[in-house]
Amino acid sequence: MYVEIVFNIPLNKTLTYKKPDEITDSLVGCRVIAPIRGRGVKGVVVTETDTLNGNYTPLLIQKRIDLEPICGEYEFKLASWISEYYHTSFGEALFASLPAGNPSKKDKKVNPIKIKQQPYFTLNDEQEDALNKIISGIDKKESNTFLIHGVTGSGKTEVYMRAIKHVISIGKEAIVILPEISLTPQTIKRFAERFEGRVAVLHSKLSPNQKYRYWQMIRKGEIQIIVGARSAIFSPTPNLGIIVVDEEHETSYKSSETPRYNARQIAFYRAERESATLILGSATPSVETYFHAKNNTKIKLLSLNKRASNINMPDVNIIDMKTAKRSNIFSMMSEDLVLAINSTLDKKEQVILLLNRKGYSNYVSCSHCNRVLECPHCSVSLTYHKSRDIVMCHYCGYTQHTDEKCDECNIGVLKKLGVGTERVEENLKLIFPNANIYRVDQESVKAVGSYETIFDDFKNQKIDILIGTQMIAKGLDFPNVTLVGVLLADTALHIPDFRSAERTFSLLTQVAGRSGRGDKKGAVYIQTYSPTHYALEYAKNHDYKAFYDEEIIKRRENLYPPFSRLVRIVVRGIDEKIVESDTYKILDILEVHTMHLGESIEIVGTAPCVMSKLKKYYRWNILIKTKNQSLLKEFFTELRTSFAAQKGNYVEIDIDPINMT
Ligand code: ADP
Ligand code: ZN
Repeated sequence: MYVEIVFNIPLNKTLTYKKPDEITDSLVGCRVIAPIRGRGVKGVVVTETDTLNGNYTPLLIQKRIDLEPICGEYEFKLASWISEYYHTSFGEALFASLPAGNPSKKDKKVNPIKIKQQPYFTLNDEQEDALNKIISGIDKKESNTFLIHGVTGSGKTEVYMRAIKHVISIGKEAIVILPEISLTPQTIKRFAERFEGRVAVLHSKLSPNQKYRYWQMIRKGEIQIIVGARSAIFSPTPNLGIIVVDEEHETSYKSSETPRYNARQIAFYRAERESATLILGSATPSVETYFHAKNNTKIKLLSLNKRASNINMPDVNIIDMKTAKRSNIFSMMSEDLVLAINSTLDKKEQVILLLNRKGYSNYVSCSHCNRVLECPHCSVSLTYHKSRDIVMCHYCGYTQHTDEKCDECNIGVLKKLGVGTERVEENLKLIFPNANIYRVDQESVKAVGSYETIFDDFKNQKIDILIGTQMIAKGLDFPNVTLVGVLLADTALHIPDFRSAERTFSLLTQVAGRSGRGDKKGAVYIQTYSPTHYALEYAKNHDYKAFYDEEIIKRRENLYPPFSRLVRIVVRGIDEKIVESDTYKILDILEVHTMHLGESIEIVGTAPCVMSKLKKYYRWNILIKTKNQSLLKEFFTELRTSFAAQKGNYVEIDIDPINMT
């Protein structure tokens, strides 16, 4: 007996091996270890056969990993679609969709926490209407897609949970995907409470083997509801009824490694193939999704315009930092924000402050020669972290100790400039000496052991002011938070990316949505140097539709998505000259094979990337706008068959890119 095996490598075919005689059952769908160039490599068996193609002696499989299959025909089909859509090998696509863990007897059984059931709410009219439409979609037994556009706190999650309840009552399964940062104890608890014993929450703290165990239980239909981050979209549910993609605009649904899939795209594919219902939900839908929901009968738009608790949206105040009076203790804070914090603390209510910059100071510069300390491996400045007294690169993790004196000119001193959350925390303690202030980032989470501890302390009002980066902008639902402050709204506004306004609008709306979620009215203060920017003006009024109307005009004018599809090709390597020459070779192939297409295709930029150096690699990119990705078929075929990157270079193909740097 022989088997065909695929590996997690960029090779577009299977390799043939001999099956050990002692294995009598089928190996199809099982992972095994088989030799490639003398080294044992993990692969998946895709077929078995008695006959050999050709006259040679295949090598023997070295080891069997799975005693029962972890995938089958369906997963093979899905991987094959991913490999075509995202231009990767079948093996790379298949491995991206499978759990990495192994079967293990030692592993503790995974079970959801013990909990008591909470009483159900009565849905409000908007929720009721949305739910009815979704349920009638589910009952039609054909694929249906809905976009729930609901303001923050409008009760979207409540609607998802009722729809899921219906799905499991008819014997089907549900997959809910959330951004990793929303997989907070609060969300986990909500699902666990509602669906005790039937839900698997695939959060990042599970070990690979625990995830593997869940995977097998899901395959056997033993779990009805799967809640998890991006990769949970691959859960092998036998009878899928519904997929919920919460915060559908989130960029973390897009994988940053080969295959660069977007879980939302996989959700579309699966819902269609498996006749399931797909719900996309967001307070700030991506411009692309909202456009399709408005103009395309395939996505039905459901709107929740008011908060479930019947409390109004918080008042948003924009503070122009060009003219605002500043705190004389800490000039990054306006007096208005300081006053607002004081009066919130007086009422024993809580505050969330956002600054999208980690560390103490975001750059270090010499007082004499003005040199800014840069990462030796990436084209970014180093951030100073006071608690560890080091400078650090947030892209590659490089760290070094800093001297007082500049070692380049040997005259000046190195000054810590710019403000990160660590410096904010230090100064807040001076301005509000009686408040309990806590900073959330990976470092501080590590210090107390878990995010959950911070959460509980905040919930139990042991913390008055929580300061953090965008980690704290999502998912938190604490009724006693009545003030949200954004220290600098401009951090994402000037990044050279056509989505920078959308990202800013969305972040501001999300974080503002943490304020006043209970029965107390909330307020939001946004400090900025661009007070008249449309992303800020519409965020002030919680007006997604007005933002969309303005943004869609810009997209149309510049032919950006949804008016085109983007493909980004990045060449990276250790020698910049060779990177550049490969980029131009690819450009040649591209021009030859798209010349006849005229205006249906536009080659935008052939240049060094914004991050021109990352993790020691130089990077160049080509951005292609196309009416239709199938127009590039000839080019990709040619690229695959007649182009080979020079030694040390690697070509990344990014379909529907999210990251433009
Ligand atoms: P979203 O997902 O849109 O942010 P949630 O589902 O988290 O909103 O709901 C916001 C808050 O309102 C939660 O505390 C939730 O328990 C509560 N809630 C949801 N629906 C109702 C309702 N119909 N009546 C009262 N409270 C509700
Ligand atoms: Zn670096």
